[in-house]
Amino acid sequence: MSYDPKQSDPKRFRPKVIRNSKGDIIATLLPGLCKSCGECIAKCPMKCISFDETELGTTGEPAIVIDMEKCIGCGTCEMICPDFAVKITKEPSKEPSK
Ligand code: SF4
Ligand code: SF4
Repeated sequence: MSYDPKQSDPKRFRPKVIRNSKGDIIATLLPGLCKSCGECIAKCPMKCISFDETELGTTGEPAIVIDMEKCIGCGTCEMICPDFAVKITKEPSKEPSK
C-alpha cells in the first residue's frame, strides 16, 4: 500500500470507535495520529493488536486495529503510545449481576 497525499482521506483523522461484543471495552483509534511504530503491538499482553491494511497512519504506513474480543482493556496500548493514537475505555458490564 502506498501513500498519495492527493488521495489523503480526511476521514482518517476522525476517531474510529470499536468495542467488544459485551460492550464494556471501547477502543478509540485515531489513525491520523498513529505513526505505525508498532510499540503497542509489541507490548499488548493479549497480542490482539495488528497493523490494519485498510487504514493509513500519519506516516502513510498501516495504522493499527484491535481484535476487541481478545482485548482485556488493560490500557497498556494507551499508556505506551507516544502519539495518543489509541484510547481505551472500560464501562460497567451491562450483564445482570447474579
Ligand atoms: S487494552 Fe490491553 S489488551 Fe487491549 S489492546 Fe490495549 S494493550 Fe491489548
Ligand atoms: S497506536 Fe501508537 S504505539 Fe501503536 S503503532 Fe500507532 S503510534 Fe505506535
